[in-house]
Amino acid sequence: MNNKPCIALVTCLSAFLAISFPVFAADNEPGKTVKQLQADALVSDLAWDTLASLTSEVGPRMGGSDGDLLAVDWAVDNMQKLGFDRVWKEPVTFPRWVRNHESAAVMSAEKDGKRIVVQPLAITAIGGSPSSNGTLLAEITEFDSIEALESASNEAVKGKIVFLSTRMRKTHDGAGYGETVSNRSRGPFVAAEKGAAALLIRSVGTDNNRLPHTGMMSGSLQGPRVPSAAISNPDADNLMLLVEKGAPVVVQLDLDVGFDGEATSYNVVGEFNGRDDSGKHILIGAHLDSWDLGTGAVDDGAGVALVMAAAKMVADLPTRPRNATRVVLYANEEQGIYGGKEYARKHAEDLSGFIVGAESDLGADRIYRLKASTLPTAQITIDFLAHHLKALGIVYEADKPAYGGADVGQMRRLGMPAIDLNQDASRYFDLHHTANDTLDKVNPQNLQQNLAAWVTLVFITADSTDTFGPLPVAE
Ligand SMILES: [Zn+2]
Repeated sequence: MNNKPCIALVTCLSAFLAISFPVFAADNEPGKTVKQLQADALVSDLAWDTLASLTSEVGPRMGGSDGDLLAVDWAVDNMQKLGFDRVWKEPVTFPRWVRNHESAAVMSAEKDGKRIVVQPLAITAIGGSPSSNGTLLAEITEFDSIEALESASNEAVKGKIVFLSTRMRKTHDGAGYGETVSNRSRGPFVAAEKGAAALLIRSVGTDNNRLPHTGMMSGSLQGPRVPSAAISNPDADNLMLLVEKGAPVVVQLDLDVGFDGEATSYNVVGEFNGRDDSGKHILIGAHLDSWDLGTGAVDDGAGVALVMAAAKMVADLPTRPRNATRVVLYANEEQGIYGGKEYARKHAEDLSGFIVGAESDLGADRIYRLKASTLPTAQITIDFLAHHLKALGIVYEADKPAYGGADVGQMRRLGMPAIDLNQDASRYFDLHHTANDTLDKVNPQNLQQNLAAWVTLVFITADSTDTFGPLPVAE
């Protein structure tokens, strides 16, 4: 053990004195460094400026689009400008899905052999949807849940446009998303099985803007799927008023979308060396791609900006943490976690080099909770982290496991330990996957609170000598 200020020293002292860690943690050298880092982060413009650069100079960056490749170049350039010691790209290939045109309208009853448009609907195609091959006209049949659709007879659905009307619940932790997202992920397949002509879903979102929420249908389900689109919450409310009247409601739908060959994008990786040549690094990540409707500010530009800025601030300390900090900006998370899965496949063999991983992908609002999944041998470091995050209003819930996020979680499943910094998701699903996901929705002070939490996590975990893992392989 050397005599540099370090967490190992704290670990030994704590074990020797058998006292609870936070009693003295605030006054030791690492504690002082953390306090200074937090104070600097709380007034730093670095995450904001990085996010503003990404959303204005690149903007929409759907996997496989020209914007996606522009984002890859942006990431390489900006990591180099920030002084990362190494920056590289790892290719990721996936099916390209394109959106050319989408429209729908409620039609009048037939008169003199014709129908006229009564109300245009605010819709967006669901990612992975096939084309409607021109205009499709059919009566809608409404279900208030996917389970209700599953138990309906084929006769009740055949040839119709299924309308799934379930409204997503607004919650602090985003739990309402998991409750309703199967309308989008499984709905297109269940509707096809029953012989439906198409699927409309109420957007999986919590706002009342007239903006539909896109998102991908399941990539793991096989078999036929119908042309599928999401309508905005106000349009779904409007449609429900007509449905409840009991008379047939006829909708016209035109989706010119679909798969078009393959595309190759890149996981962009940057690393800052540690002060020791330990061969180990922490992994912090976010996804570089976004949906095409907005500029991807909260999903997931904020995450990209936070992990880049946090790594930079810690690397700029007079003394670097012991181990390296690796930042991974993942390719095409939105359409099937392609970047995260490819990264885990490629790096499964060097798992022992990964100390712990964490991801930012739930917007830019305040972090309120810490969760950790590590071996008990790292508990002293986690307690030290929890102690310092408390100053930012973050509560450690020791009984809850960390998930690691959609992308970083792919390594967690192989046994890499993980830490979650959970953000308040109350507003997130108002904006998620809509044209409203733009920079003005990000609160600069909340972003700084996030940055303060991330520099704390990066410094403390990268400087630790504790053994974090590996953990058992997770399902
Ligand atoms: Zn995301």
